Amino acid sequence: MSQLNPEQFIAVHHTEGPLLVLAGAGSGKTQVITSRIVHLLAKLKIPADQILAVTFTNKAAKEMQERVKRAAGSKAEGILISTFHSLGVRILRRDIRRLGYKPNFTIYSDSDQAGVVRQALSDLNIDTKQFQPDMVRWQISSAKNRLIAPEQYPKLSTNPLEQVTAAVYPRYQHLLRAYNAIDFDDIIMLTVRMLEELPEVRQHWQDRFRYIMVDEYQDTNAGQYKLISLLAQGHGNLCVVGDDDQAIYGWRGADIANILNFSSERTSCKVVKLEQNYRSTGTILNAANTVIKNNSKRSDKALWTASGTGELISLLVADTDDEEARQVVEQLQLAQYRNKRPWKDFAILYRSNAQSRAFEEALRMEEVPYVLVGGQKFFERKEVKDSLSYLAVLANPRDEAALVRTINFPRRGIGGTSLLRLQQWSLEHNLSLYDTLGMADQIEGLSEATRKAVNGFHSMIRQELADFTSSNMAPQATALFKRLGINQELYRTIDNPVQARKRIENIEQVINALASFEERNPTAGLADFLERIALLEDNRREAGDDQPQDAVTLMSLHASKGLEFPQVFLVGLEEGLLPHHRSIDEDPEVAEERRLCYVGITRARERLTISRCLKRRKYGTWEERQPSRFLAEIPPELFEGGDAEHKEAEPVDMGMDFFARMQNM
Ligand code: ATP
Ligand code: MG
Repeated sequence: MSQLNPEQFIAVHHTEGPLLVLAGAGSGKTQVITSRIVHLLAKLKIPADQILAVTFTNKAAKEMQERVKRAAGSKAEGILISTFHSLGVRILRRDIRRLGYKPNFTIYSDSDQAGVVRQALSDLNIDTKQFQPDMVRWQISSAKNRLIAPEQYPKLSTNPLEQVTAAVYPRYQHLLRAYNAIDFDDIIMLTVRMLEELPEVRQHWQDRFRYIMVDEYQDTNAGQYKLISLLAQGHGNLCVVGDDDQAIYGWRGADIANILNFSSERTSCKVVKLEQNYRSTGTILNAANTVIKNNSKRSDKALWTASGTGELISLLVADTDDEEARQVVEQLQLAQYRNKRPWKDFAILYRSNAQSRAFEEALRMEEVPYVLVGGQKFFERKEVKDSLSYLAVLANPRDEAALVRTINFPRRGIGGTSLLRLQQWSLEHNLSLYDTLGMADQIEGLSEATRKAVNGFHSMIRQELADFTSSNMAPQATALFKRLGINQELYRTIDNPVQARKRIENIEQVINALASFEERNPTAGLADFLERIALLEDNRREAGDDQPQDAVTLMSLHASKGLEFPQVFLVGLEEGLLPHHRSIDEDPEVAEERRLCYVGITRARERLTISRCLKRRKYGTWEERQPSRFLAEIPPELFEGGDAEHKEAEPVDMGMDFFARMQNM
């Protein structure tokens, strides 16, 4: 472990009471948390299970676990280093029964969630053209992030969208309960509710976590703030670290005030500032500092580095977006070859996920290995999960999550309320859902039609279970999907036929995957196939992807938080992309975009390349692009080759001729 500087040393050894480390990028905040953990374990002999560290991404958690394990060895066993969400899931699994959910609940992805919102809207006869499911989903999500429960929502709703949400939100929650599912935002909201409402549960976790540390604290929202406050009330040893200049989740309800008010809200809070940057060269740091300086409301911070000026920033201006991607990949290959660098030293960072397409193609063309972090993976798509669920039910009818997915897909009249009734009955009688379905005739509170539908579904599954054999599975699955009428269902429920066709192609791919699995494993069965997929997904999720170890990283700026790479390509630095077109005129939003730019620049250790293009295709037609205003905020002398356009430019003001001048860059 590296030698701590005096401020870091103070932060590491100040273990009792509240502590705030507020400092710029690359100053060793995350390092402080790791060293504190090792100090607590090795020097103070604190048992590992009394320590909790919370990070923002799985990747960050895994990295920290590895570092701690390396430094503290077996003493680190049983330590909880996790994201907010996996912490919440852990707390929920233990006691969620008491909120009326089964402990084997499923966590719904965005696309699952969208399906439930759509269903709730249709149950309530709300016009989805006027109130788009996505907008309603967003409203519900932001309510949950602010810890607003369905029953509190109506009081706070003023406009028509909020009024519709007020009606949909309880229905949506009701349906989730029926599916024995929770959504991503519920994880935090329900955990907080449980800790608030159930004193024994609260006591248990407060007692357990004697030392709590939170990284990236500037991006906590109201729910996460409350969760941490509740947990830390027990022992009061809470250490949070963060950087207000890197707050980039305001759009998702994160509140900078949580970090800025941390010390004033606590008596005897220790505050430590770190000013030495250990990550980047002077040039990179200089660029980052001059950009972020343009934001007005920020805590005062200075960052310096002892690592020398290093290489100048290189600027790539390409004709088109595809050309931009091609040039970036060419530069990357050149650098890799010349400097004998592994591919994993390189990252390409962009503002929006859609930008990855051009870079993925260019990398594939050149056969450069890459991993794509974020974006929806094949096996997470809704129709893929739905069709796989049938196979999972055939492999094990007591796979409850799978059964719930299939019970009303394609729709057969077993709605949310009936399902909730079935779930309650199975909970009361301690029976699996599948066995419960077989006893529909004994369950009160179901309509005749539902009873019939449930019986029909149960005997259909029973028949399929009896017929399905583990040889030649792919043709059997094809026939099954056909009998079920999955394709027709997709055409029926998706308004856009092109979209529907795409989903059907995805289902074909599921069959293809099964066929190729069978070919490779002639004696294996359905369960083996499903296990293989689950494993693949786990690896992918854990390692960031299931692709080669040595690969270029492609990710959004949001996903890059906390990470570092020797060489970074910050691409698409154009007005409308960074800052994003939604934020061009709004002051606080431009400030958040500028922080994103700051995050991007400060991911680079040795070398930074910035690129932009002159025109991009939008819905098939060319659109002229202007350079990002943030580009002009970087001093011209920091660019390579005495960047001519930059040199000629007058000291930049944001006046009328700004774009005209920049256009020639
Ligand atoms: P960010 O704001 O981007 O999350 P950070 O403040 O968390 O950055 P770290 O990731 O902890 O910074 O540290 C940045 C780099 O500096 C890492 O490579 C880390 O190993 C190194 N580092 C931190 N402290 C020291 C030190 N005292 N001596 C040498 N290297 C250090
Ligand atoms: Mg960090």
